[in-house]
Amino acid sequence: MESKQMRRIGVFTSGGDAPGMNAAVRSVVRTALHMGIECVGIRRGYYGLINCDIIPLDFESVSGISRQGGTMLYSARSEEFYQPKGREKAVSTCKLLGIDGLVGIGGDGTFRGLLELSKLGVSVVGIPGTIDNDISCSTYTIGFDTACNTAQDSIDKLRDTMQSHERCSVVEVMGRHAGHLALYVGVACGATAVVIPEQDINYEHDLMEPIRRARLNGRTHFMVIVAEGVEGGAYHVAEEIRNTTALDTRVTILGHVQRGGSPSSRDRVTATHMGYEAVELLAKGMTNRVICLQGDQYVNYDIAEALAMRKSLDPQTYTVMRALTGMEQVKLKEELL
Ligand code: ATP
Repeated sequence: MESKQMRRIGVFTSGGDAPGMNAAVRSVVRTALHMGIECVGIRRGYYGLINCDIIPLDFESVSGISRQGGTMLYSARSEEFYQPKGREKAVSTCKLLGIDGLVGIGGDGTFRGLLELSKLGVSVVGIPGTIDNDISCSTYTIGFDTACNTAQDSIDKLRDTMQSHERCSVVEVMGRHAGHLALYVGVACGATAVVIPEQDINYEHDLMEPIRRARLNGRTHFMVIVAEGVEGGAYHVAEEIRNTTALDTRVTILGHVQRGGSPSSRDRVTATHMGYEAVELLAKGMTNRVICLQGDQYVNYDIAEALAMRKSLDPQTYTVMRALTGMEQVKLKEELL
């Protein structure tokens, strides 16, 4: 940790967007102004940092953005930033503009980028923003709650028509490497079964049996939630169900709709707290930290330490999901936990 007086900081959003990122930006700007620090917005993540795509941000310019989905600073991925030359250009932008510290809002990749910048002498703090809730150091990431609510709303609507036509619905939700979203949504929607990448799933035992049990209990429509990271995705799962049970099985991919929408209270409030904490750390002269939520406490970790952590599925939710769907004890893949 080094001590550097903050006069001007930059804030950017990077990687996949998440509802609540705007509330974090607003909080960073207003907290900075409150502490007598100037703030600039860097648009399009690391791409914007390399290409000096910046906008001044004052009290008024972030007014009313908390309730808006997406990110007013745009988000992007930058291939150039993976190269040392690209990162040198990013550092040059900081020097040119007199940016003493950076707050980056995004996922693991964004934090890896921040770590590289801190090695080049830039003070950095990360805020976890991703609908996947897959940042190991934090029990919660900005956007997860809104995405769960969006998926739940769509699935409830889908259920109405599935019920009328006595069909089996296989719904794919986001989660390339983690099943947090699928698991929560499965519990929230009373799914027949949930298929997530962390499971070592046996289709006959873990999927067909819960469907049969539901049918024996009088059910004529079924809802199966699949995380996109499951091998073969929802189409493969639907094919297995169709071949084994002959049920009229339909696939729905919820897709990017899960990333949008006005953020929930939980996301707005969490983002606001995290934005405040991030600026406070920079103002104290701290760097290379990521803001995390542990239970109801906001804490921070060294970025390298945070990236080395592993996060398992919430065991209580997993147990409840199994009990209520009638799924047997499914072995979880060690390497994904
Ligand atoms: P999401 O959870 O949506 O994937 P993310 O922040 O993990 O969000 P990435 O695409 O992985 O998204 O990373 C965003 C950007 O961060 C990349 O486009 C790249 O510019 C930078 N980045 C990622 N990993 C590294 C790395 N190892 N070194 C330097 N920069 C990186």
